[in-house]
Amino acid sequence: MNMLKNFINGEFVDAKNNNSINVLNPSTEEHIASVSIGDIDEVKYAIECAYKSQKNWESTPAVERGLYLKKIAKKIRERADELTNTIVKEGGKIHALAETEVYFTADYLDYMAEWARRYEGEILQSDRKDEHIFLYKKALGVTTGILPWNFPFFLIARKMAPALITGNTIVIKPSEETPINANIFAEIVKEINLPKGVFNLVYGSGSHIGSELANNEKVQLVSLTGSEPAGKKVMEEASKSLTKVNLELGGKAPAIVFEDADIDKAVSYIVDSRIINTGQVCNCAERVYVHESIEKTFVDKLVTAMKNVAYSDPNKNKDSMMGPLINQSSQEKIHKLVKETEQAGGKILTGGYLPTGKGFFYPATVISECNNKMDIVQNEIFGPILPIITFKDFDEAIHLANDCRYGLTSSVYTKNLQTAFKAVDQLEFGETYINRENFEAMQGFHAGIKNSGIGGADGKHGLEEYLRTHIVYMNISE
Ligand code: NAD
Repeated sequence: MNMLKNFINGEFVDAKNNNSINVLNPSTEEHIASVSIGDIDEVKYAIECAYKSQKNWESTPAVERGLYLKKIAKKIRERADELTNTIVKEGGKIHALAETEVYFTADYLDYMAEWARRYEGEILQSDRKDEHIFLYKKALGVTTGILPWNFPFFLIARKMAPALITGNTIVIKPSEETPINANIFAEIVKEINLPKGVFNLVYGSGSHIGSELANNEKVQLVSLTGSEPAGKKVMEEASKSLTKVNLELGGKAPAIVFEDADIDKAVSYIVDSRIINTGQVCNCAERVYVHESIEKTFVDKLVTAMKNVAYSDPNKNKDSMMGPLINQSSQEKIHKLVKETEQAGGKILTGGYLPTGKGFFYPATVISECNNKMDIVQNEIFGPILPIITFKDFDEAIHLANDCRYGLTSSVYTKNLQTAFKAVDQLEFGETYINRENFEAMQGFHAGIKNSGIGGADGKHGLEEYLRTHIVYMNISE
């Protein structure tokens, strides 16, 4: 099978390294594409092209830069069906979610384009006579973006749109699991005649070419969305050239259900959140803490709802509720974790078995009688599994939720405003949902604390990640 071509300096170019990685359809295990493991010289060349085009790009009026983003958005909408089917095929995402991802990506590009006339520098008061102080907001220069597979198409825009609107250029490396949608994105970039070198795409494995993307002297920001180990590796590499890092890493979102919660609502949101993208979302509910007084009612309803979740091949069944996991190793890892939890005292109330047949499916699973010491409660599962733990009072709930090295998102279910605000005061997370679950808004700021990352994305603050300051003191005395 032919290898996908890189997109460098406005052209599709053959990969230099013939060692390839097979891209599988996770619903059928069929081999659908190949990508190269990548080549350091190729990455250097892409960075060099991004570097050479950057000054011209930055001097293009921001509103014109925004027009390019809007043209990309328009083409994405025109090719929405093809993109949706591609995302379903390579990522195992259900049709409705893949379609949402495609349109959201187009909307995101339009939204970021609107910042063209809105981001501003400052003029400051001076302590000296006849002095003006100007604080400019300028592009960083060349940026790189390393992507995961779970929202592969949207994440291209989440990195390239704020980068480009602020005058930076970018080299993107998609996940080796989901490269085909990125190829279509590059086709669109070519069609709209984005100036050469402004957007580049290189394929490859993170362990092979990730270091160059992070430590190349010409790169001013490396932005990774991915796992905690990859984040640590990127930071280590970036330290060699003191490159700025933006790390959007894993989560272990607690859903806290207080005794006064609307139980039906809580069950519905938590189940939707846990099965969406087969539980492979950084901010979906990963562990549930329920007040002991409502445990039985809540768990009965939760189990009933999770039992109703059927998995099927989303390529064949457009209304599939849940697709497969991304790959076999993920399926095996999750099943092992479930079995270890059972051995440690967890009670499997539904699911918990390894399906036979083609595809990396896993059933919606609920495990009660868990505790905070278990791996399943401390480490990211990234599958449709809900471990349940009970608590006695508010302080215990908050303590258990915070007792984890991740700090991305959390959710709270209560009808009491005081309980909600007290929880917001005390939860150690970058994002909290009250009486609902994910997703976040493009005008918000998606950012984790602790081991969930450094910096964030979206909105005004996400844009700021791609800007540097340049302060000028101007003496105008005669
Ligand atoms: P991953 O870490 O395996 O891979 C992510 C990307 O990093 C891939 O492109 C991979 O090639 C690259 N990579 C791997 N090792 C690298 C290295 N040593 N140097 C440089 N790059 C390297 O993650 P994944 O399995 O693709 O995605 C799932 C993870 O992403 C989960 O932990 C999930 O929580 C996280 N995620 C976080 C967010 C967020 O916004 N915080 C969003 C989506 C996914």
